[in-house]
Amino acid sequence: MRVNWRYTPATRNTYAALYAACEQDGFFLEPTDRPLNDVTCYSLNSLNVRDLAPEMAEAGCITIAGGPHATACWRQVAGFADYVVVGEGEYLLPELLSRIRDGRAVNLPGVATRDGYIPPASNVVLDAFPPFSRMKGYVEISRGCPFSCSYCQTPRIFGTVMRHRSVAGIVKYASRYRDARFVSPNAFAYGSDGRQPRPHRLKELLSALRNNIYFGTFPSEVRPEFITEETLGLVTRYCANTAIQFGAQSGSDSVLQRISRGHCVEDVVKAVEMCTQVGLTPVVDIIVGFPFESDDDQQATADLIRWIARYGKIHAHPFLPLPGTPLGRTSPRPLSRDLSHLLGSLALRGKLTGSWRSLEIGFSHATAE
Ligand code: SF4
Repeated sequence: MRVNWRYTPATRNTYAALYAACEQDGFFLEPTDRPLNDVTCYSLNSLNVRDLAPEMAEAGCITIAGGPHATACWRQVAGFADYVVVGEGEYLLPELLSRIRDGRAVNLPGVATRDGYIPPASNVVLDAFPPFSRMKGYVEISRGCPFSCSYCQTPRIFGTVMRHRSVAGIVKYASRYRDARFVSPNAFAYGSDGRQPRPHRLKELLSALRNNIYFGTFPSEVRPEFITEETLGLVTRYCANTAIQFGAQSGSDSVLQRISRGHCVEDVVKAVEMCTQVGLTPVVDIIVGFPFESDDDQQATADLIRWIARYGKIHAHPFLPLPGTPLGRTSPRPLSRDLSHLLGSLALRGKLTGSWRSLEIGFSHATAE
């Protein structure tokens, strides 16, 4: 049976992980730009689904969809895909492919069809699957998040219990790169329950890695309250990065409360100051246009951005209501003139990156990198 992966640059890390998982069972996901051969697999997000859904509906082969959009909207996706893998794919996708190949019934918990869906019985253990093989990707070190930010799909897809790849497993795959980068919902939470850093576990990992390590920076950003003297000291001692990227999301405490961020603006200010003191550039993620932002909230965010720009950089995104999240059915609030003007002028000065005007533009830039 010939199986293809519908390649899109934005889903390449998922491709790398699922290529490796399927390869273990003898399936080789060849990249394609259209549905092809016996089976074609798709990873759907809120941006690519508009383009890919019509192609799947007309496909002349079996189609399998997974990814954040398919997980959140499996009923909708089962209307145009033959099978929908809900949640994590490393175990389910090869098992589903085996059943299709062998002509066995596909009543697999975690796989939805037009006939219905039974939730999966367990979560993936990271060490049971390689993060990549022939198709290279970042090394995923942790999965799941105990926080519940109301705009974020991560805890809704991967659960609220943080799981970690072992130090030996991470070293094995990181050693295949000269410059190693990692994927985590919060890299400074490595080895912990995700609520508080455990620096000795972090040290155990970082001291075991022998290559150039980029940690606590894209794509392993951290939370501001995990930025401490100890965690920063480990970065300056063991890592090659000169910046730390973390999420502030808003300069308004009332917005931070409403989105259940679990930290306040003061935590962000402290994190910026601590990074600066040890010579690391703070790169701070901000989301603009939350639906319930008042003029005062946007002003507070503008004030915070102005202050951060004196010491570091901003990475700004527009709020996107993602399905499956508590804010999934809301609409973004337009930006005030002051905030919009500030973002534009900082971008011109090289102090701000991101796609605060249009997510599509941001994604196409990201994919070109
Ligand atoms: S935004 Fe980060 S901290 Fe918040 S739920 Fe998502 S992964 Fe967790």
